[in-house]
Amino acid sequence: MNEEIEIKEEKIIPIWPPLDPGPIQMPPSHLNMPVPNIPQGPPLSQGVEYELPLEIQQQGWKKFWSKRENRPYFWNKLTGESLWEMPVIKPQFDPITDPLGICAPPPTAPIPLAHTAPPVPIMKRRASEEVAGPNAKKFILAGPWDLDVPTNVIILERAPCFYMHSHPEVEAYRCSLLTKLRQSYQEVCHSRESIDAPKDSFNRWLMERKVIDTGYDPLLPSNCYPEISLSMYREIMNDIPIKLVRPKFTGDARKQLSRYAEAAKKIMESRNAEAESRKVVKWNVDETFQWLRKTVGATYDDFQDRLSHLKQQCQPHLSETVKTSVEGICLKIYNLSVEHAKKVRDKSSAILKDHGMELPPPMTIHTTRKVWCYPVQFAIGCPRLPVVEYLPDRDQAMLRFQGDTLAINSSHLQKLEHLYRHSCFDDRKFELFIPRVWVMLKRYATFLGVNPSSNTASSDVQDTQQSLPVTVFECLNRAFGVTFECFASPLNCYFKQYCSAFADCDSYFGSRGSFLKLKAVSGSFEANPPYSEELMEASVNHMERLLSDSPEPLSFIVFMPDYREPTPNALIRLESSQFKRKQVTIPAYEHEFRHGFQHVLSKSELNVRSVQGTVIVWLQNTTGHQRWEPSEDRVQALLEAFRPGRERERDRQELLSPTRQGSTSDAKDVVVH
Ligand code: SAH
Repeated sequence: MNEEIEIKEEKIIPIWPPLDPGPIQMPPSHLNMPVPNIPQGPPLSQGVEYELPLEIQQQGWKKFWSKRENRPYFWNKLTGESLWEMPVIKPQFDPITDPLGICAPPPTAPIPLAHTAPPVPIMKRRASEEVAGPNAKKFILAGPWDLDVPTNVIILERAPCFYMHSHPEVEAYRCSLLTKLRQSYQEVCHSRESIDAPKDSFNRWLMERKVIDTGYDPLLPSNCYPEISLSMYREIMNDIPIKLVRPKFTGDARKQLSRYAEAAKKIMESRNAEAESRKVVKWNVDETFQWLRKTVGATYDDFQDRLSHLKQQCQPHLSETVKTSVEGICLKIYNLSVEHAKKVRDKSSAILKDHGMELPPPMTIHTTRKVWCYPVQFAIGCPRLPVVEYLPDRDQAMLRFQGDTLAINSSHLQKLEHLYRHSCFDDRKFELFIPRVWVMLKRYATFLGVNPSSNTASSDVQDTQQSLPVTVFECLNRAFGVTFECFASPLNCYFKQYCSAFADCDSYFGSRGSFLKLKAVSGSFEANPPYSEELMEASVNHMERLLSDSPEPLSFIVFMPDYREPTPNALIRLESSQFKRKQVTIPAYEHEFRHGFQHVLSKSELNVRSVQGTVIVWLQNTTGHQRWEPSEDRVQALLEAFRPGRERERDRQELLSPTRQGSTSDAKDVVVH
C-alpha cells in the first residue's frame, strides 16, 4: 500500500505538459465574415521574457525576479515604468461587439495599457489558418467524440460572463459550503419532519433554482423568486408522513400500511392541527388499525388498496398541517444558500483585490447582431492560479489541490485538452489547464454529491449526466445535420459546441453557457435535458420561443424520459407543441445510454440499459423542417443507431479497422448537407 503511494508521489508533475498549440476552429468560411487579422511574429524566446505575450514585449516590457520580495516584477525599457503585476494590453477584440475577434483592426499603433491590469489578459483569438497550414500537425483524439464537427449554429451575441474565472481556492471553498448545505438539508428534514431528505431532491432543487436564479454565484442559488422552491416543497411533502415504496412481499405491504397510519397519527397529535383535520385523520387511522386487527389472510393488493384509501383520506389534512413547517425548510435552505453565496463572493473579491482587480457588475446587452455560436467569454481577466498537482497513473490521472484528489480517465483528460485548444483563448501555453480541469471536476463532483472516497453517487444522480450513445450522435449529425448539444458538460459532450450548467468553469472547454440563455437563430440541435421537471419545461418553452422568433432554419431533436407520473408537465408541453413534426417512443430496455460517470469508469461499464422508455420529438420551424425533415428513412436510421450494443459493435469495428471513421451508422444513405 505504502509502496503504491510512494510511486505515485514520484510521478508528480506539477505543470501540465501541453501539446503544441493546434488549430483553433474558425467560423465556417461561407458566412462572409471578414478574414481575421492575426498578429504574426517570431516565437517567444525562452529567456526572461518567456512568460510575456508577444504584444506586451513589443511595448517594451520585460519580466524580472525580485530577490528581495521573492516574486516577479515587470520593467518597461522604453518608458522606465515598473510594475508588480503583469502589464496588460487591452484585448484586441471586444468580446461584446466582436466576440469572435474578427473585426479588430491590425495592431499598428501602440496599444494603451489598461490601468487595472489583469495578470492574464483576455487574448485575441487566433485563426486555424494561422497555425494550421498544409504542414501543420494534426492532433488525433483517441476517443469516440467528434470534436472536428464545425458548428452550424448562429446566435445573437450576448453579454460576457460576469463571474470570476475558475480559481481552485474559491472552488474548494464554494464546494465545502455546498456540501454543508446538503447536510443541513438532511438534518433539517430529519429534525422537523422525521424523514430523510428525499433522495436526490437537493440536486433537483439546484437545477430548479438555476432556472430562475439571477444571483452572483454559478452554483449556489442566491437570487430567486419565489424563494420557496416548488420542487423541494413537492418532494418533501411527498414523503410525509413516511416515504412510500413499492413493497416486495405481502408482509412488507402490511408493515407499510401500519407505519403510515402510525406516522399520520403522530403528526396530528404533535402539531397544531385544525380540529376538523385532527378528527378526520384520527377516525381513518383508528379504522385502519381495527381492520388490521380483525382481518386475517389479507392479500398484497388488499393492503395496497387500504393504503391508497387511507392516503387519499388523510393526505390533504396532513399537508395542510405541515405546510408552514415544510415551507420553513425550503426557506431555511434557500436563505443558507444566499448566505453561503455571499461568503464565496467575499472570498473571490479578496483574491481579486490582491491582484488589483475587482468583480464586474452584471451586464445585459440588447443586440440583434448575429454571430456563430462561440464559447462564453469573461468580462474580466484571470488572476494567477495556485498549482494543482498532476499525477498520471495508468489509464487515469489524479489531480490534487490541497489534499483534495480528483480522478479522471486519461482519454477524457485528452479530450479536455482538445476542447481547451479549440475554445480557450487566454492560455495558449496551457499553464492554467490543470487548475481549470480540477475546478471543473470539483464542481461536477460536488453538484452531483459524489462520495469522494468511493467516487460514487446514487444511480439517479448519474442519470442526470448520462448521454446518448456515440452511434446516435453520429447518426444525428449525418442524417439531421446536428452539430450542437443543448445540455452537456465538458465530460459528456460529443461535439465541441454545447450548452452546460456552468458557464464559468466549462467555457474553457467549449461551453456556450446555459441553454436557457442561448438566443439561437438557426442551426440543428440535440437536446437531452437532465431530469428536472422545471428545467425541462422551461427548456421546451425556450425552444418554442426561439422557433417562433426565427424564420431561419431551426431544429431541435428532443429526448425525454417517457414518464407519465407524477406531473409530466414538460412531456405534455413537448408532445403538444405546435412545432412538433414527429414523435417516436423507444420502449424501456430496448436502448442504452452512456453512463453519467463515463469520465471515471472503464470501457466495459460504459453502456447502461435504459429502464425507462425514451420519447423523441422533432421540433422544427418551417425552414428547419425543409432542411432537416424527419423522413421515414432518417428516423429509421436513428432508431437503428439506438439499438442496444451498437456502440460496442462500433468499437469492435474500429479496432478491426482503425482507419475507418468509426461509424457503423446506417445513416450513410440519408446524409444531409
Ligand atoms: N450531452 C449529453 C448528456 C446530457 S446530460 C447528451 O446530450 O446526451 C445533461 C447535461 O445537462 C448535464 O451534463 C448537465 O450538467 C447539463 N445541464 C444542466 N443544466 C443545464 C442548463 N441550464 N443548460 C445546459 N446544460 C445544462
